[in-house]
Amino acid sequence: MSGPTAPVTAAEVLDVYRRHLSRGRARLASMTGAAMEVASRGAYVWDADGKEYLDCGGYGVFLLGHCHPQVVEAVTAQIRRHPMATRLLLEPVAATAAAELAAVTPPGLDRVHFVNSGAEAVETAIKLARAQGRTRLVSAVGGYHGKTTGALAVTSRPLYQDPFRPLLPAEHVPFGDLDELAKVLGHGGPACLLLEPVQGEGGVVLPAPGYLAGAQRLCAEHGAFFVLDEIQTGLGRLGTWWGADPEDVRPDVLLVGKGLSGGIVPVAAAVATDAAYTPFDRDPFLHTSTFAASPVATAAAAAAVRATVDEGLVERAAVLGHAILARVEAALAPLRGDVVADVRGRGLLIGIEMCDERTAGELVLHLLDAGLLTNHSLNAHRVVRLTPPAVLRDADLERIGTAFTTAAGALLRSASSLPGRV
Ligand code: PLP
Repeated sequence: MSGPTAPVTAAEVLDVYRRHLSRGRARLASMTGAAMEVASRGAYVWDADGKEYLDCGGYGVFLLGHCHPQVVEAVTAQIRRHPMATRLLLEPVAATAAAELAAVTPPGLDRVHFVNSGAEAVETAIKLARAQGRTRLVSAVGGYHGKTTGALAVTSRPLYQDPFRPLLPAEHVPFGDLDELAKVLGHGGPACLLLEPVQGEGGVVLPAPGYLAGAQRLCAEHGAFFVLDEIQTGLGRLGTWWGADPEDVRPDVLLVGKGLSGGIVPVAAAVATDAAYTPFDRDPFLHTSTFAASPVATAAAAAAVRATVDEGLVERAAVLGHAILARVEAALAPLRGDVVADVRGRGLLIGIEMCDERTAGELVLHLLDAGLLTNHSLNAHRVVRLTPPAVLRDADLERIGTAFTTAAGALLRSASSLPGRV
């Protein structure tokens, strides 16, 4: 019996999307001219027509770019040697990855539980807190922690939550507001607080200095469990190893994902203090998942951390971040006010807040035309987000500047019809 033939043309792929994957995604594809990505290397992605894109998108995954040689080598060697474990015996690759990761996390965060996705890392943290009596969930308005049902309870966005209610009960405090946080933690029993150092999907929202340290202090005061979700901000994305670093914050659990994959194999982790990890020490079967900590995924994680250290990518992220922010600000300066509301960022997490959602969509499409891939923000549709790799070369900076200048020109032409503009 012959099986279905593989789709080749964009029209064939669209048809399979409609029949088997997602009609919604198929509709969205028409906006991007049904371009199909088929290859990648370093900071670049190519479509089926051979067009080259500089990848400043990828929703934060590609800190090491695409196909980083050190990660490819580690993963392919592991696939040949022993890709999946029986889980009955000790397995050295997971052990190496745990040691590599613990060596770069803030002091005291030494206990590593590997999982397959960011949302699963969030679930892990919530369960560690609940197993220790912190059953009230508190997170920030605009915060994004994933879409599995537990994680969704703390992802404060009715659009994604409402169809699935009732969820686990959770309270949402304004991000950056320590007075409100004190009120919520001070009433209603022991809590688990989940925060991001900078809200990524919330639209690159940077809290005032002192907020994280203040939140940690309040958690200590009220016996709350503190989970810092660095799935998007960690591993150098902000130009420091962790968003926790500038304020010397040490949560009970730090969450890592996205870049930990090396851009190659999905893997995430919850990294805990000894005390926070106690329930899993007591019973190693309390929280398990068949594929978690597989040798192939942990080979990617170990290689990703090692490459970040070896290539000095955290420092490089800080330098690149300043350079990109300056270029984007300069290119968009003529549009500030009635088209572009704000440009902000830290390290390689940069947000361009547009005055409305429609123009945000237009900016993404103009940049795509100019060969630059970006992200929209799941919790803030007016904010176009850049999450560039830390392996960009200096020449790529010029390319980013040029793409923004071109996109700004296109936006200016349509904005010249706005009242008050000539
Ligand atoms: N936490 C944060 C801060 C995130 O940005 C994301 C994803 O964007 C998640 C959790 C969920 O990760 P995943 O999509 O891998 O489940």
